[in-house]
Amino acid sequence: MGKKYVYYFGDGKAEGTGHMKELLGGKGAGLAEMTNLEISVPPGFTISTDACVEYYKRGKAYPPGMMEEALHALKRVERSMAAGFGDADNPLLVSVRSGARASMPGMMDTVLNVGLTTKTVQGLAAKTRNERFAQDSYRRFISMFGSIVMGVSREHFEDILKHKKQDLGVTQDTHLDAKALKELVVSFKDLVREETKREFPDDPLDQLRMAINAVFSSWYGARAVTYRRLYSIPDSWGTAINVVAMVFGNMGESSGTGVAFTRDPATGNKAFFGECLMNAQGEDVVAGIRTPLPVTQLAKTVPQAYKELETTYKKLERHYRDMLDLEFTIQEGKLYMLQTRVGKRTGIAAVRIAVDMVKEGVISKKEALQRIAPDQLAQYLYPIFDPKEESHCTPLGKGLPAGPGAAAGKIALTPDRAVEMKAAGNRVVLVRQETSPDDIHGMNAALGFLTARGGMTSHAAVVARQMGKVCVAGCDAIDVQDAQTVRIGTQIFREGDYLSINGSTGNVYGGDIPVMESEVTQVLQGKLETSKSEKYQLFDTVLKWADEVRRLKVRANADVPDQARIARAFGAEGIGLCRTEHMFFAEDRIPIMQKMILARKREDREKYLDQLLPLQKQDFIGLYREMKGFPVTIRLLDPPLHEFLPKREELMVEIAQLELTGGTPSVIEERKRLLARVEELHEFNPMLGLRGCRLGITMPEITRMQARAIIEAACEMAKEGKKIVPEIMIPLVGMVSEMKAQKDLIRDVAQDTMKRYNMKLSYLVGTMIELPRAAVTADRIAEEAEFFSFGTNDLTQTTFGFSRDDAAKFVDHYKTVNILESDPFAVLDREGVGALMRTAISGGRKSRPDIKLGICGEHGGDPSSIEFCHQIGLDYVSCSPYRVGIARLAAAQATLTEQDNRKATPVAKASTHASRRPSRPVKRSTGRSARKKR
Ligand code: PEP
Ligand code: MG
Repeated sequence: MGKKYVYYFGDGKAEGTGHMKELLGGKGAGLAEMTNLEISVPPGFTISTDACVEYYKRGKAYPPGMMEEALHALKRVERSMAAGFGDADNPLLVSVRSGARASMPGMMDTVLNVGLTTKTVQGLAAKTRNERFAQDSYRRFISMFGSIVMGVSREHFEDILKHKKQDLGVTQDTHLDAKALKELVVSFKDLVREETKREFPDDPLDQLRMAINAVFSSWYGARAVTYRRLYSIPDSWGTAINVVAMVFGNMGESSGTGVAFTRDPATGNKAFFGECLMNAQGEDVVAGIRTPLPVTQLAKTVPQAYKELETTYKKLERHYRDMLDLEFTIQEGKLYMLQTRVGKRTGIAAVRIAVDMVKEGVISKKEALQRIAPDQLAQYLYPIFDPKEESHCTPLGKGLPAGPGAAAGKIALTPDRAVEMKAAGNRVVLVRQETSPDDIHGMNAALGFLTARGGMTSHAAVVARQMGKVCVAGCDAIDVQDAQTVRIGTQIFREGDYLSINGSTGNVYGGDIPVMESEVTQVLQGKLETSKSEKYQLFDTVLKWADEVRRLKVRANADVPDQARIARAFGAEGIGLCRTEHMFFAEDRIPIMQKMILARKREDREKYLDQLLPLQKQDFIGLYREMKGFPVTIRLLDPPLHEFLPKREELMVEIAQLELTGGTPSVIEERKRLLARVEELHEFNPMLGLRGCRLGITMPEITRMQARAIIEAACEMAKEGKKIVPEIMIPLVGMVSEMKAQKDLIRDVAQDTMKRYNMKLSYLVGTMIELPRAAVTADRIAEEAEFFSFGTNDLTQTTFGFSRDDAAKFVDHYKTVNILESDPFAVLDREGVGALMRTAISGGRKSRPDIKLGICGEHGGDPSSIEFCHQIGLDYVSCSPYRVGIARLAAAQATLTEQDNRKATPVAKASTHASRRPSRPVKRSTGRSARKKR
């Protein structure tokens, strides 16, 4: 027998199960599982993702046997429904729905009512004794099939519909009678003929084949591809297709369709939450075309079906042990479930649901930890509007609070403009009548979105929750008039005007309301009591559980005491990188620094360094105090010196202007001297020039001053009885000789300083590993270095030969054409950079078995990179203070994944292959230039 591509489900028995997500897609697996649980599901079959993969391999041809299997399964559906596909008297209709492994809301195509023809529409009318319903279904089918499968623009159908309503003087689709709908069917078919030069297909099997092809093709549709790039979903997964017997939510007022969540997806509150539309079909709710009613309304209109829905959602949540989203249809009072899957949720909800489910005894703490994508924790840190400022503003309108947080920015009314305005450095709020999957690029560029139509399960709301954006949906007060103008309440706004939206309350305000720190940040800063913030308590609970599990320590990259304080509050266990150059940019220091750089003689440089010494020493005392005994890694001066000097071009312009306007000759002279020195220091490739340890070697007085400040500060602390073990880190070492030269210098200064203080202190001297040469000669370097910290920003730059400041220009393109899966400056390249790290670790340990190992590049805050750091055995990761919580959770997850993998049998391992990727798409940290973050 050939490979099986089709899996039937129906009448309480399915060939698939809920565990077969990779093969059946999320939707197919859910339908199979629900069928096996004897939940009311219409019969159908799933064509596997393998079939899709094969289809593309064969140049868009079905794999052998697939269609035969599908037709066989279709016969079973006919038997189960006691109806025939194409039967003129008793027609069976089916939906053809996409369904990938990872949910990709609205990104791929779905066609409903397949099987309607000139003959079967009459049968449907006779069978249901409802001519209007039959014609309504047929016109919906022609427009859906015509646009999705045959490529006719949806707007053309909408225009014809609009004109029909105008001609008849009605406003709602539901006001069109059977005759009008029948006429629409004719006009729609004419349109298809005109646009495609083909007849609308009237053979149900042709329709089925064409719909299957269209759904397979939508896997490579522009929307789906953009989405996959955004969420790192591989093209190789393919989509499954579900062909399901149609049940009708548009059969009158006791029929309807809805979407629900077993708990609130925005807040995580334990309350059944959903929306429905009566006398509506399929995607009407999700598309956000009509603003729906709360699902609880069904208790009044169709009490029996509502009762069954309640029983069903509880049964399903108990079974899946997670918050679920559900799609259902009620046909003349009878409930049918059409979909269930683990529900997407905001980060706020993810934490609450996980903590609540542990308290309810449903899941273990470990499971709870694995259910929160580390990046989702960032939502606890999103800013809120300053309550005082907000209380002075009157909302112009109120919509649904679909994505929590506060966003204020300039209005963009089209996704393309949102992208352009963001690129020009603006904060953007995207305002749309409703969003559609085509808007995804603009939604990505905006801080938040506001829509006029759609509910909590509309496209805008779903995407907001997933992307972690602020969203107010279904705000009636909004009317987008054209691509430049929107009316909000009584006021007219234009593109570029400021707007503020509160995604936690749904309020919409004109103007730019200042935002302030989140509750969690306020608690950490001591501005709000712990007991007053439930959000903080939830956040803290999860992180404490994470600490019980993780092996990796988490430090922070912090340069000044304020940052160190925040880092400690977030739970940092030390400073992994203090970039000392940042200390010289302060207003009172930069002039001294510039003079030091411009000086040509060592004695002059020393004079200025002497002025910097006490300031630098105070900086270190500040850091030591905040870190209260935790390790502090201080890196010696690293960047090319020109970063401290005025720009050459700016100086030239300044001099020209002074000369033109008769500036003071002595000033002009002084600027010219400065320009000459700036030109002398000019380098063609400063990143590979006089920087890192090369500075300290060519100008040892700089290293001496910094070493002295570090040790003196530690001695001062020791005088107060506080023990500090400074870790002095030498940047950009490539050769052991460089390491030794700097270490010797530091040792001399340290001896001398300790003698003056009459003290003996411990301290470490180590290096960053940020050059391939350092990694491959790590055994030699470790003869001198007492610790390694991987500077993966530079290591990525030098390994790939990609400039960290310029790579963004082509990395996106590389991702689009599948040359890179992700930006290597954001997600550590395990294959290349990772291999160098492994080499360095084994070399380092060979010479110094107890060598301390950490990472301080931006990757130290990226969950996937943290997992790798755990695997290769680093001692700690170091990241920005605000990512410390995320890193604590990611480190715990790395331990848990390792434990799971160890437990898994080889067979189970193979079947969980995909679990190396998060099942719920996780937003990656942005590919910002790490250097610019300095
Ligand atoms: C690095 O290169 O990874 C690093 C942390 O140093 P910087 O970003 O300061 O060059
Ligand atoms: Mg570096």
